[in-house]
Amino acid sequence: MGQAVLGCIADDFTGATDLANNLVRAGMRTVQTIGVPEDAGSAVDADAIVVALKSRTVAPGQAVAQSLQALRWLQAQGVEQVYFKYCSTFDSTPAGNIGPVTDALLDALEDRAGNGLTIACPAFPENQRTVFKGHLFVGDQLLGESGMRDHPLTPMTDSNLVRVMQAQTRHPVGLVAYDTVARGPQAIRERFAALQDEGVRIAIVDAVSNDDLMRIGIALKGMALVTAGSGIALGLPQNWPRLVHGAGASLANRLPPATGLRAIVSGSCSLATNAQVLHFKHAGRPAFAIDPLAIAAGDDVVGQALAWAGRHLADGPVLIYATAAAADVKAVQAQLGVARAGEMVEQVLSHISVGLVERGVRQLVVAGGETSGAVVRELGVRQMLIGPQIDPGVPWTAVQSPASADETLHVALKSGNFGSEDFFTKAFTVLAAA
Ligand code: ADP
Repeated sequence: MGQAVLGCIADDFTGATDLANNLVRAGMRTVQTIGVPEDAGSAVDADAIVVALKSRTVAPGQAVAQSLQALRWLQAQGVEQVYFKYCSTFDSTPAGNIGPVTDALLDALEDRAGNGLTIACPAFPENQRTVFKGHLFVGDQLLGESGMRDHPLTPMTDSNLVRVMQAQTRHPVGLVAYDTVARGPQAIRERFAALQDEGVRIAIVDAVSNDDLMRIGIALKGMALVTAGSGIALGLPQNWPRLVHGAGASLANRLPPATGLRAIVSGSCSLATNAQVLHFKHAGRPAFAIDPLAIAAGDDVVGQALAWAGRHLADGPVLIYATAAAADVKAVQAQLGVARAGEMVEQVLSHISVGLVERGVRQLVVAGGETSGAVVRELGVRQMLIGPQIDPGVPWTAVQSPASADETLHVALKSGNFGSEDFFTKAFTVLAAA
């Protein structure tokens, strides 16, 4: 118990969960908040707090304003170090939000920092993201030659992070190369000092292995601001040995015991989710399909789904899904429009989720990034205590919702491509064993 030492600002929702999940794995009890909490007064009981923003693709001015608001709230919580989290593929628009947000946070933390240097390191070797001589690799490919080239919102065509960052910040950018990192924390710190003497304020740091992340983590002790993907979170917690090696460490992913009925709501149409839905149905489990055209025709799809669920929940988990193959999704989008189809389905699935919780569901899996955002909003969830990992990047969480009558609700939010084929059954097995 006690006040948080690490305060994180994440530029999107599933990225925040990915970071929180790594912090818990490294032994810190972690709470994720949805947006900046309105209540400045009450202290969050955790070692680390991750504030989830939606600032990756908004205008830079807005991203800066949101991030500074999060910073002020985290400072009021008394955190010792601030961590700005972005995607491990350094996703940023050509205008770029990573640079402006980093500059603003550096300025705001200047007095306390006394050293004015931060790092930028998206590396997450377990997830095939490595940085070598300042160049970001996605698997075996350079970032600029990977699929990220054609991303609809944040196309990344330059793999040289020193150059990418330099184009976004008013401060000089430098590099801590792999050979320095390999020599250990002391060598990394000496390189930080040398760069600072040259006037560098942001150092891109190479990392190609988990061992590198551990060495870098130690070298970051006391740095006021760290900017990184979620990988750096694996090495950072060792700077608070009292927390991660103390009695609480093995309890970092503990959640209150699971109770109540079980359900899955799926609005993701990714290949992985389609396979997970099929796997669940083939196992003979109860599943109910949502037809977007029926929603558009004005049918009471929410009522029908909840009536069906009422008959099957006792034999749960039950699955309610809009998940469909690409061709079917295209056909629906052609009739309704992409945005309208998406919003209609999200609205129906979030109302169904609330109805399920009102009917006694206390263990809820949601598939789909946007779908998860909609469901969590409709449930009125403000913060999530992060628990055990089901599959990489997807932990169980414990939340409060008005719909659950102040009882603990366990929620797992799975972004589209995550999770093994048996995810929808495995999730509940993991929770029962936790
Ligand atoms: P993912 O994480 O796989 O990208 P999201 O929930 O972020 O999943 O996005 C899926 C989008 O597709 C949502 O807006 C959802 O409402 C929409 N959708 C789900 N099922 C269908 C469908 N059958 N037809 C058209 N759109 C759908």
